[in-house]
Amino acid sequence: MAFETKEELLEKYIKLDKPHCPHCDEPMTLWEIPPINFSDGLGWQTPYLFVCFNDQCPSYQKGWQHLMESMEAPASYRCFCEPGADHFEYMPVFSPIGGTGSVMDDAAIIAEEAKKELMKQTFSILTDYYISKDWDEILKLCLDPKIPPKVRLKAAEMVGELGDATAVEHLINHKFPTPVLQEGVKKAIEQLHERHFTRECPFCAEIIKNRATVCKHCGKDVPRA
Ligand SMILES: [Zn+2]
Ligand SMILES: [Zn+2]
Repeated sequence: MAFETKEELLEKYIKLDKPHCPHCDEPMTLWEIPPINFSDGLGWQTPYLFVCFNDQCPSYQKGWQHLMESMEAPASYRCFCEPGADHFEYMPVFSPIGGTGSVMDDAAIIAEEAKKELMKQTFSILTDYYISKDWDEILKLCLDPKIPPKVRLKAAEMVGELGDATAVEHLINHKFPTPVLQEGVKKAIEQLHERHFTRECPFCAEIIKNRATVCKHCGKDVPRA
């Protein structure tokens, strides 16, 4: 049997038609099994289940009464099924919100998917620019706050490798959101200076040649690099 990662399973399950609860006929909710849970050791074949979280569900409502009478326990059952399975089972819950913390609500799922999709697309665009050595466009991606930081970091590396000396100014004057990205940009700047035999003027921070003895921007004498 092929092993599928949790992410691959989630992707697959999102596309499934939601099963309907056999008791209330409401569509069931995709639910992530918590890492520590009542079923540990029972061997789930899946990290996700479809669960009926309808509080008006007759089975769930009867559960409170039944368990109070039979076990004097304030608890009930939620009906669930494994994705793709055609039979339904029941899990105990001890409050109306029991288990709801792991609900994969549609908005969260869609946001997660959109993020992944954007990441995939921008990485692929980046690869195209890299192949055609279009560092100007790569620099734009690197500076774009709407682009995921992981992609921007990769873009920074590419600019360091491909960019011309003017790329330094763009990178120096930009504020980056994460320390990792900021660090990546710093390395890219160092690489650009190295490749173009340049450095920053210690007085005005403009870019000057390594071998310059006078800054062409501020006119000060600069020590040799
Ligand atoms: Zn139901
Ligand atoms: Zn200067």
